[in-house]
Amino acid sequence: MSDTHGSEQALEHPKHELSYYAKRIYAIRDLLLEKGVLDEKDIQCQIEYQEARSPANGAKLVARAWTDPAFKARLIADPKAACLEMGIDATSINEFVVLENTEKVRHMVVCTLCSCYPRPILGRPPDWYKSFNYRQRAVNDPRGVMREFGLTLSDDVEVRVHDSTADIRYLVLPLRPKGTETLSQPDLEKLVTRDSMIGVMDALPALPKA
Ligand code: FE
Repeated sequence: MSDTHGSEQALEHPKHELSYYAKRIYAIRDLLLEKGVLDEKDIQCQIEYQEARSPANGAKLVARAWTDPAFKARLIADPKAACLEMGIDATSINEFVVLENTEKVRHMVVCTLCSCYPRPILGRPPDWYKSFNYRQRAVNDPRGVMREFGLTLSDDVEVRVHDSTADIRYLVLPLRPKGTETLSQPDLEKLVTRDSMIGVMDALPALPKA
């Protein structure tokens, strides 16, 4: 029986199917390996670190803020320190701002220039966040964008759009859904979606009791 695990064949990438930029990235990676700047273990560690960052991190922060007013105050006053308390490393963000939604004010985050995003808290940005369409419409018609995500706001609710930069990253603290007073923290976390922390929609409503 042949065994290809660990062989050169198993490590080879189908480079003919890759885009120009992907090929370029692999070429740079190969050069860094060849020159001994990095080894395979460094690359794997970095991939695992990137993959470990997901909206679950943000959901933990939000659910705790909903249930612990002192933590919420710390999260807003010094987001990076509050992240550290929860074991989330946000030190790569230069200035980190948490925006608290209220019944009268909703915040929405965009990067009009490119795709700046609070990656340590939410992982990689969704494709729509990086699209020209979103970057333009978030500024021109934020209420229309929210409607498409399923959130229709009345006219007396103010919408504030925040443009991210290389230096400033934002996280929206969505409103706690009504009827969730008895939910445990893990159950609350399930209501905190990625999109609610970008601010294009609210957190999910509490599931009706069976
Ligand atoms: Fe950007």
